[in-house]
Amino acid sequence: MNDDIERILYSQEDIAKAAKRLGQQITTDYKDKVPVVISVLSGAVFITTDVLRQMDVYTQLAFIDVSSYNGGTKSSGEVRLVTDITQNVADRDVLIIEDIVDTGRTLKFIIDLLKQRHAKSVRVCTLLDKPTGRVLEVKADYVGFKVPDEFVVGYGLDYKGEYRNLPYVGVLKPKIYLDK
Ligand code: 5GP
Ligand code: MG
Ligand code: MG
Repeated sequence: MNDDIERILYSQEDIAKAAKRLGQQITTDYKDKVPVVISVLSGAVFITTDVLRQMDVYTQLAFIDVSSYNGGTKSSGEVRLVTDITQNVADRDVLIIEDIVDTGRTLKFIIDLLKQRHAKSVRVCTLLDKPTGRVLEVKADYVGFKVPDEFVVGYGLDYKGEYRNLPYVGVLKPKIYLDK
């Protein structure tokens, strides 16, 4: 699996440092709150456990699964709710944790859902932000790294369901797109 990677963008150490920084920022902002942390399956699971353990804040953890990508490298443009949270978010502060924000469609869908349910506040923490990919106007409040407009894998991010367990974020060799 590691042999399929052309270059590493963010190492395990880079990500650990970023998670610590994000956790500290969130701790400062949420010290008097008890947010519901919503991790977006499956990609955000990795960074969620890192950031949560760097937060000195009372939280409740929830998971949501939405689908937009259909496993390839281009967004399908349509977002669908696959598995909903079970928590009631009315009047609660909510912190969404994502692996990457690209077009913003996934995030917009989730934010709209939470607002419909009368969440008190909604903020977003993401490991990666790809601002050049944005189609909808959504902003991440806590960002690990701004990534160039390239398709990346690892640390939760997949290509056709694979590579999520790489301990770093990297770029696949072009031949993988042709072979797999
Ligand atoms: P958006 O809805 O913002 O276009 O994309 C969000 C989702 O698309 C992410 O949660 C992620 O699953 C997928 N995605 C966007 N860019 C990339 C990328 O560079 N690599 C991978 N593996 N997935 C991506
Ligand atoms: Mg995601
Ligand atoms: Mg994916």
